[in-house]
Amino acid sequence: MREHLFIDGQWLPAASGKRFAVYNPATEAVLHQVAAGDARDIDLAVAAARRAFDQGPWPTLSGTERAGYLRAMADALEARQDELIRLEVLDNGKPLTEAQWDVADAIGCFRFYADMAETLKSDGTPLELPDERFTCHTVREPIGVAGLVTPWNYPLLMAAWKVAPALAAGCTAVLKPSEITPLSALELAAAAETAGLPKGVLNVVTGLGPDCGAPLSAHPGVDKLAFTGSVPTGRRIMQAAAQDLKNISLELGGKSAFIAFDDSDLNAAVEWVLMGIFFNQGQVCSATSRLLVQEGLYPRLIERLVAQAQKIRIGDGLAEGTLLGPLVSEGQYRKVLDAIAQAQSDGATLLCGGKRPAQLDKGWFLEPTIFTDVPADSALWCEEIFGPVLAVRTFKDEADAIAQANNSHYGLAAAVMSQDTARCQRVARALRVGIVWINCSQPTFVQAPWGGYKQSGIGRELGEWGFSNYLETKQITEYASAEKWGWYLRD
Ligand code: NAD
Repeated sequence: MREHLFIDGQWLPAASGKRFAVYNPATEAVLHQVAAGDARDIDLAVAAARRAFDQGPWPTLSGTERAGYLRAMADALEARQDELIRLEVLDNGKPLTEAQWDVADAIGCFRFYADMAETLKSDGTPLELPDERFTCHTVREPIGVAGLVTPWNYPLLMAAWKVAPALAAGCTAVLKPSEITPLSALELAAAAETAGLPKGVLNVVTGLGPDCGAPLSAHPGVDKLAFTGSVPTGRRIMQAAAQDLKNISLELGGKSAFIAFDDSDLNAAVEWVLMGIFFNQGQVCSATSRLLVQEGLYPRLIERLVAQAQKIRIGDGLAEGTLLGPLVSEGQYRKVLDAIAQAQSDGATLLCGGKRPAQLDKGWFLEPTIFTDVPADSALWCEEIFGPVLAVRTFKDEADAIAQANNSHYGLAAAVMSQDTARCQRVARALRVGIVWINCSQPTFVQAPWGGYKQSGIGRELGEWGFSNYLETKQITEYASAEKWGWYLRD
């Protein structure tokens, strides 16, 4: 496990000389101590990224050349896959099987954006103009230095979603991972080192949000800011970036609805509703944490859901068969317990969970929790909890389901389940969200756009949209006629 900052190709202690503790959420014990960066370290990292961008050659390498580096980073991660999977479990608490997916997806993300880098045409794309005296072509160029701020729920994967497209586009970057789970981001820096990435192209500064994230988002040397995290922090980042009008993209929270119609296949509904709320302990921005069940299906679905939720194996993520690990931190654990207490005092009915499992007296563990009779104006129904807590309400018909689902200041994702595919497609189009799953919940592919409407964010990650996040488009227009223009000089 590493503890130093990665700046300008070197491993350095924080300017303050301080470190902060990182915990294993399954045992509550200190796992490691990591450098506590501050504004001085951010200055150094931005200066390194600035030099690597302004003096090159990174931004002017061909897409094919940059793709070679990205593939080498993917190979370096792959060579240490098992170690990284274990590290992610120790740092975040997630079950080993989920960490296996995360690490494989992070590697896949580097390979995907390597391919995308190769699609960049160095001589540009011709554009037809209505005036034949002119020729025009467009070129896509990297925005510049990218500040990347990431959360703790998918530590390596969220870093990959930003670092891979930023580097593929030709940007240089400063990554500020969450202080709760900083360890795998340092391993990503190590992969960059192994891949021989030119110094300063990728810098990683660990530290607290206000100490490191805030100076990065306000830094005049940063051209682009990409953030994934909570709405309140997103708002602060937007304010900081407003000073010099940085290009920003924000991936924020959600309170996504799962709409299950009466004609749903019961087993499929149970499977995907559980997947939608208990995967990664419910700490998923797109978790379908609001279940809307049509009245005819309600009794059967609720009975099965509660029975299955109680069978989910809870424990240390490294233990064989674990399907639900601990919450990531003591702070998150308290926040979720407070939300459960608030839901009870707001009149919601607790059907199962809501407490620490009896057999686990250490670790931030919580039983899968399901509430019904949830008031539509309660915090449980309206606010993101980011834990294994499902809120259930019923609906009468399609219009009622759509109205209830759309009644949210968030708009990240939604799921709809029915055997009537035409209805599913109709509902999908009526939902004011960026991601809709039909007859499933949560599957995520690097090829498809990711991001939300309303307060769930600005812009899209992944696919070609994630690549465009880090590119400017330039038009180059040439007067190509042999005739004089003759506006001022008429003779
Ligand atoms: P958070 O907002 O607390 O922290 C995210 C990052 O911002 C961390 O690196 C943190 O150190 C940094 N930060 C904190 N204060 C800052 C400041 N003033 N200026 C700049 N940076 C600052 O979020 P979190 O608790 O780490 O993550 C959970 C949230 O992330 C949830 O709301 C979740 O929905 C959201 N999330 C969204 C997506 C998505 O793709 N939409 C994915 C994962 C998580």
